[in-house]
Amino acid sequence: MIEARGLTKWYGPVPAIQDVSFEIAKGEVVGFLGPNGAGKSTTIRILTCFMPPTAGSAMVDGLDCLENSLEVRRRIGYLPENVPLYNEMTVRRFLSFVAQVKGVPWKDIGREVDRVTDVCGLASVRNRIIGNLSKGFRQRVGLAQALINNPPVLILDEPTIGLDPTQIVEIRKLIQDLREDHTVLLSSHILPEVAQICRRVLIINKGRIVATDTPGALTAQLQKSAKIRLTVSGDGTGLAHALGRLDGVLQVHLEADDPVRLVVETDRSRDLRPALARTAVDYGVDLLELKTVDLSLEDIFMHLVTEEPLEHGGAVAEGVQDPARTEVMDS
Ligand code: ADP
Repeated sequence: MIEARGLTKWYGPVPAIQDVSFEIAKGEVVGFLGPNGAGKSTTIRILTCFMPPTAGSAMVDGLDCLENSLEVRRRIGYLPENVPLYNEMTVRRFLSFVAQVKGVPWKDIGREVDRVTDVCGLASVRNRIIGNLSKGFRQRVGLAQALINNPPVLILDEPTIGLDPTQIVEIRKLIQDLREDHTVLLSSHILPEVAQICRRVLIINKGRIVATDTPGALTAQLQKSAKIRLTVSGDGTGLAHALGRLDGVLQVHLEADDPVRLVVETDRSRDLRPALARTAVDYGVDLLELKTVDLSLEDIFMHLVTEEPLEHGGAVAEGVQDPARTEVMDS
């Protein structure tokens, strides 16, 4: 539904994006992540036909963004980071105006405005002046204008920025409901938001795509060993040594004393949880919790854009691949 091929954009001597390629299939909801200045807005501006790339091409629904920009724009509902709203208009008047601009037939405008007003929960403020609305409602009006004429593609740039926690929950819920019948590209720097809403992420850094996959698949790629956290009551150091002797355990790390928390790094190809549980029970401690520690989207993101080591979830251990050399580390 969206296809970027080798997109490159230079602002004078500055390359904003270079050779950016990705595909988003119909019905997919994809998060677009990157630190400030990474090139997200530049990519979005090209996809929404606001400016041409220096090189490469972008297609939406099989149509070239340069050659068929009018048709492409018809297929995209765009919520920019700073929504341009007419503050002196009422919500209803503004949405009717957007419907007119988007070419909704005159006889259908009332029905279309009612539809997006309902979808975005704006019924109670439909006759209010936009300038007097809260930031949360203004954001809903922004989303409502993007939904007019029911475009199949939605491009949402930082949709929850500047909202309070309640408003954030509401807008996220709204976007989740829209997933049903739209292809969505959601740019955000709030990683839990992307993890919650999107099935796949595109990570851009310094103008280049550095990863594209589901958070789960990225974890699998980046995390070379599995980590399991055990919370027990009893002798942590003794148990750490007992666990360290198990076949397949690479390293045991005593993370906390009260209650005792041990992080056991294991061979990824084997599920050692039953063996760890049995060893704890045989050793005579009370096992309070046993949990796999996964890399969060935040860990993945930090690793890809800053080259920081994967401290919490994954491949941190150096030189401990050989079980015979299992180490027990106290911290
Ligand atoms: P993001 O949206 O991820 O923060 P941008 O696409 O806005 O990133 O910017 C990418 C790079 O291009 C940055 O280095 C930025 O400073 C530069 N840039 C963006 N817009 C312009 C512009 N109009 N003129 C010159 N440089 C720009």
